[in-house]
Order: sequence, then C-alpha cells, then structure tokens
Amino acid sequence: MQKILLVEDEAKIARFIELELAHEGYQVDKAEDGRTGLDMARAGESDLLLLDIMLPGLNGLEVLRRLRKTSDVPVIMLTARDAVMDKVTGLDMGADDYITKPFSIEELLARIRTALRKQQSTTPAQLTVGPLVMDIARHTVTVSGVNVDLTGREFSLLQALLENKSIVLTRETLMERV
Ligand code: CA
Repeated sequence: MQKILLVEDEAKIARFIELELAHEGYQVDKAEDGRTGLDMARAGESDLLLLDIMLPGLNGLEVLRRLRKTSDVPVIMLTARDAVMDKVTGLDMGADDYITKPFSIEELLARIRTALRKQQSTTPAQLTVGPLVMDIARHTVTVSGVNVDLTGREFSLLQALLENKSIVLTRETLMERV
C-alpha cells in the first residue's frame, strides 16, 4: 500500500483529504505543523508528500527546502490561493507539482497518480557505486564484473543502502525495508 504524508494544519481539510485518500486505497499519515511534517518526511517512509504552504512552525516552503537536502520523495504543494510567487518558489525548490485550494478531489488524485508514476519510472534498473553494479531486475550483484552471491536479505539491505547513498538510514528504516 502506498503511503502519503499529509502536512496540513486545517483540521477540516486534512480530514476530508484523508478520507478520500483512504477510500482510494492509500495509507495516510498526518502532521499539523511544519516541524512535525519535516521529521516524519525525513523518516523516509512516505511515497509522497502533500504539503500545505501556510503552516505553523516551519512553513511549507521551508519544510521543502530542508527536506530536499536529503530526499527526492515526490512533493505536491497545496497553495491557499492563486499565489503565483509561492508556486514558482515551490517548483524552484524542487516541488513536483502544486494544487490551488479549493481543488476537486479528482484533480488531486490525478496529480498524485502522476507524481507517483513519474517517481517509479525514474527508479533505475541498475545501481552502481564504483566497481559495484546491482541489477535490480536480474537480482545480481557484480564487483568489477565478478558475480557476488548474496542472500535475499543481503540483497535488499544493499539495495536500500545504494538507493539512499547520501542519507543516513536508521536501523528502524532498514529493518522495515529488508
Ligand atoms: Ca494552512
């Protein structure tokens, strides 16, 4: 099941979006302020973020700016009105898309599907670090062209590490992935 992190301080809107997403089969985590949202996003368990801009604590743009130092998780910004500057700034900072409130739930769902699809298609078939080549589809690992025998669990662990090269992964995150 794909996990969506919703960072939105307006309880009514958050509840409405949560119900609709759950109905579509997504698992929804919620945060009501920027700092909590950033911490949850950094845990790396979400497949996509819906990030409101006007938030208490850190605003959405600041959350995005900090998150992008370590994560390329898809982010769709929720903007309160037709705030052109917010949109431009958000896209410049690495948001994948934005949607202006009030929006129809169908439009939001379509944008979520597009962002998730884009993310999947950019997942490489091979991961390489120096002489090490991991072929995801064939489930093989070679170092300087020589095959390395790995158990399924070792393969998953190595894959998780290679996919998050510049990020420190917690033990919990790794245990969940493997
Ligand atoms: Ca808000």
